[in-house]
Order: sequence, then structure tokens, then C-alpha cells
Amino acid sequence: HRGEDRDEPSRERISQVAARLRSYAASMAADVDAHQTRVQAVNHSLNREISETPEAVLTAVHQLIEANEQMQSQLQDAQRRIHEQAEQIETAQRRAMTDALTRIPNRRAFDEYLARRHQPGPARAGCVALLDVDSFKQVNDRYGHQAGDEVLRVVAQVLHARLDRCGMVARFGGEEFAVVLDGYTVQQASLAVEAARIAIGQREISVQDQRLRVTASAGVAELGEDESIAQWLQRADDGLYHSKQVGRNCGHWMDDQQPRRIDVDCDDLWEHSRSHSAAHPGLPGGRPQAGGAGRPDVPAPASGLPDRRGLAARFSQLRNRS
Ligand code: GH3
Ligand code: MG
Ligand code: MG
Repeated sequence: HRGEDRDEPSRERISQVAARLRSYAASMAADVDAHQTRVQAVNHSLNREISETPEAVLTAVHQLIEANEQMQSQLQDAQRRIHEQAEQIETAQRRAMTDALTRIPNRRAFDEYLARRHQPGPARAGCVALLDVDSFKQVNDRYGHQAGDEVLRVVAQVLHARLDRCGMVARFGGEEFAVVLDGYTVQQASLAVEAARIAIGQREISVQDQRLRVTASAGVAELGEDESIAQWLQRADDGLYHSKQVGRNCGHWMDDQQPRRIDVDCDDLWEHSRSHSAAHPGLPGGRPQAGGAGRPDVPAPASGLPDRRGLAARFSQLRNRS
């Protein structure tokens, strides 16, 4: 179920499109050639002295108009077909970058994105995080592979909804997800990742007639001086590995080579969820208050959202549980 084997059909698709475009180009060249021949014939007949009668000139004009119209319609036709092929290439390209199960970017898309983020260097690159569903094999064993698939879809959706705007959320492979947080300091990234990680654990997932929950572990690393992409990613993986080692359902950020537990404050989480939802009013958690700043066009939520104290209580409950 890895993304890689799904790339083949789209590669095949693209080479089909390329073959079709080559044949269009060849027939367009032939059309242009035929057009040129027709124009030359008209030119030739105009050059003959005998042709300088009104009738002959009129005939030449008609022939030229006809040749132009024919060329024009051939060009329009070619343009339409080329446009269709371009759309097919775009679709194939998108498919090659998307994970078929979860519909979020796949490993290939992530690798390309991370390489681009790596370029500006440590001052501006930001952070990378890896999250892995805990004891996921048990989900498959207990509820079946399809339930497992559904869990992966939901986890991807939660992560994507919360973190994609930070940079990119991708399926890294299996039950592992990768996040790029453009320009985030490791503190900011840890907070954002931890909030999303907690959200995964809170989400009830319906499979068949059952409701289940899963937790995830995480590792976060900020790009270091002279660090390669592979080393950067490896440190995020070290953080994740450490989270698994100490019992799962937690996150660690890397202080150079040293994993440190992400232990966020209720106030920080609250602030984070507030700014998070101010940018995306469709998400629950703490939109601007009614009559407050910003988005007067969005009606304030009637009720049902926990207030600050309720949230703080829930977070400390969660912390005590883990
Ligand atoms: P840990 O907490 O240490 O991460 O344990 P784990 O059980 O999550 O990890 P492990 O690597 O032992 O098992 C991962 C399982 O994920 C094994 C594999 O069959 C399953 N898996 C990988 N990709 C998919 C998928 O696309 N769908 C489903 N249903 N299962 C998958
Ligand atoms: Mg796992
Ligand atoms: Mg794993």
C-alpha cells in the first residue's frame, strides 16, 4: 500500500500523452506545409500576367481566404486537443504526488517539498516532524485492514486540517506522517504538532459498528547548521523513536542530538488554538468572539464550544492520563 507502486500508471499515462502530442505536432507540421503550398499556388497564379484580370484576382482572393480558414480551423482543433492533453498531464502529475488512500501528498511530494525548504538554510527553513500511529498493528489485527485504512484516512484528515497551512502534511509511508513547518522555530513547531497530536487522540473514529480511538507519537527537529536533508529527517525520526521508547502517546523535539519531551502549557495550547482558528474560521476551538476583531461576515458560534477554563481542564486531564 505504499505510494510508489501507484506512480507507474501515471508515468505510463504521461508517456501516452507525450506520444499523442508528438503525433499532433507532426500533423500540424503537415497542415502548415499544405497551407504553404496552397498559398504558394495562389501566389504563382497571381504572378502570371494572364491572371491580371478581375476574375482571376477575385479567384485568387477566394482561394487565399479559403486556405486561411482551413488553416485557422485546423489550428483551433489542434489547440483544443493540446489543451486536453495538458489537462491530462496535470491530472496525472497530481495523482503521482497524492497518496491514493488518504488523498494527501505522498512521500514523493514530501521529499520534493522538503528539499525546497532545506535550501534557504537553518535561519529560514523551519522544522520537520514525523508522527506515527501507536500500536497500529493491533488496530488491523483487532478490527481488520479496512478499519485500519479508515483510521489512516481520519488521522491524515486531522493532521491535514490542522497543519497543512504551516507548510505540508504528507503520508510518509505506512502509518507514518510527515509535516513540514515552514520557518517555524522548534518551539512553535512543537506546539503546533502537539496540538494536532492531542487532537488525533481525542478523535473518535467510527468503523463498522464500533467507535475507536488511536494515539500517535511524534518527533520534531529544526534544521541545524550544515545539516543535510537526510540528517534533518533522521533527527525528527530520533525524536519519534524516543517518544515510542518512553511509552508512546507523546512527542519529543530535538535539542541538537538530545530528545526533549514536548510538554506544552494549557495557556500555550489555548493561544495556539485561538490563533489557529482565527486564520481558519471553519475549525472548532475558539473563533474570534462575537463583536470582536476580524471576520464580521462569519457568524459567531451560538454555543457548544468549550470556554477557556473548560479547555484547560480538559488538557490537564489529558496530561494526567498520559
Ligand atoms: P508502534 O507503536 O511501535 O508504531 O507500533 P505499530 O504497531 O504501529 O507499528 P508496526 O510497524 O509494528 O506496524 C505497523 C502496521 O501498519 C503494519 C502494517 O501492516 C500496517 N500498515 C501499513 N500501511 C498500512 C495501510 O495502508 N493500511 C493498513 N490497514 N495497515 C497498514
Ligand atoms: Mg506505529
Ligand atoms: Mg511505523
